[in-house]
Amino acid sequence: MLLVCILVLPVVAYGVFELNSLTVDERELETIYERQLESVLFSINQYTQGKVSEITSSLDKRTDFSNADQIKQELGTHWYFAALAAKGVSDEFDELYVSPNAKFGDDFQQKVDSLYQANDVLVRRLVRYKESEFQKLESNDAPFVYNGKEYDFFFFVVGTGSEMKFCIYIYDAISFIEQTLVPKFQEITQGDFVLTCSRISDGFLVYSTDDQIQGSIENEPLDLLPKYQVGIARVGGTVEDAVNKRKNQNLMALGLLMVVMIIGIALVFFNIQREMELAQKKADFVSNVSHEIRTPLALISMFAETLQLGRVKTEEKKQEYYDIITKEVARLTNMVNRILSFSKIEADKREYHKEPLNLNDLVQDVINTYSYHLNNNGFTHSLELADGLPEILADREAVVEMLVNLIDNGIKYSDGQKHITIQTGLKGSSVCLSVIDKGIGIPANELERLFEKFYRVPKGDVHNTKGSGLGLTIVKHIMDAHQGSVHVESKVGEGSTFQLIFSPEQNHHG
Ligand code: ADP
Repeated sequence: MLLVCILVLPVVAYGVFELNSLTVDERELETIYERQLESVLFSINQYTQGKVSEITSSLDKRTDFSNADQIKQELGTHWYFAALAAKGVSDEFDELYVSPNAKFGDDFQQKVDSLYQANDVLVRRLVRYKESEFQKLESNDAPFVYNGKEYDFFFFVVGTGSEMKFCIYIYDAISFIEQTLVPKFQEITQGDFVLTCSRISDGFLVYSTDDQIQGSIENEPLDLLPKYQVGIARVGGTVEDAVNKRKNQNLMALGLLMVVMIIGIALVFFNIQREMELAQKKADFVSNVSHEIRTPLALISMFAETLQLGRVKTEEKKQEYYDIITKEVARLTNMVNRILSFSKIEADKREYHKEPLNLNDLVQDVINTYSYHLNNNGFTHSLELADGLPEILADREAVVEMLVNLIDNGIKYSDGQKHITIQTGLKGSSVCLSVIDKGIGIPANELERLFEKFYRVPKGDVHNTKGSGLGLTIVKHIMDAHQGSVHVESKVGEGSTFQLIFSPEQNHHG
């Protein structure tokens, strides 16, 4: 748990930090876009102002407003021009110059008049500006519809002193945008971003520098054309899209990192657990072995002392004590040999001297020496030796060691029925040797681990049956060295069969 915390927490913290910084990046990028829009807008507004000023300043310079045709012709060079209304500030002058392209009826004059009236205050203010020699342009977003067509307009004042006139320039804004602003748009964007111009009231798109606009557009209204707005968008999606894409990529990378870390942690955890189990098994081994050694030693010293002190009177008793001492010495030797055998295996120093062996003879020899031990422990045994077995090439001592280990286990792990069967036979062309008991059996889920060093099947009474957990490890190692295998079949409460299968290559054809 601690390990998980130590390793996973920094990753999570880093993830949160990264995502947070992405959001900050997103905000910064958006600010950059807003700034960019501001500067684009500024330049477009300046440009519009400049274009319109060309018209108004040329009118400002004009002293003669009587030649209507000339004025109309001059203004008519711009096809967005619809009409120009001029009213004298101090004299009675009132003229409407209408573009030759536009068709306005008599009622048009009334519309223009109402425009004057509605913007009375504004017009006066423009006059005041003009008196201080500043020609200002003003417009507003009031609708001006004639014959179903929407027009735009702006106010300005021309002339000086008594010649002063206030004017309304009426024009078609969409044509104006297309003719004047579109080239400017293209010049500004240069393919870096998308600029659009649209009508605010209904979103009608007048122009866009790119056909495909992805994501949202930041919009701002134009100064002189307040019914229209300029928008800016990113090429290939919005900032948000880009940030989201990066966010997802980072999340995926983080997720992957997490998975790798968790796998790593799991591996470390399992390794530690294994190491701890091994340490525990070693501790059990030491305690078991010391117990195994202490018991025979105690017995030997006790009986030897008794004999030494001459307290044993009858020859029979003496013989019995000698037997016990011999048996205990054998047990001790057995134990020490097993440990030595194991440590040789561990150090990779065990050598095998293979010779042709008749397995049946070998079993017979072992049983001859062991039947006494078996009987002593209350066991009966039977031999089922197959005829005509081929000889095998094997290390005699090692095979005896395996057989003794297996018989020993059969004795140790039987409580009810005390019977051991030793079988030899052929499995295909492989010679095999089985030791079968009717003992306590082994649970199926433990079978896999039996051959691990120091491993003992966990049982409540494990300390009653002493052992080192080395016997089967040694058996497995010896069989490996003979290119053979060990096969176990077992049922809890019914007994176990340990079968040693020698590889056919070990058969001796002699
Ligand atoms: P040990 O010294 O503990 O007997 P082994 O390596 O010989 O060590 O055996 C490992 C474990 O396998 C034993 O502790 C025991 O639980 C189980 N085992 C081995 N042989 C038998 C058997 N014939 N019947 C039941 N359990 C057995």
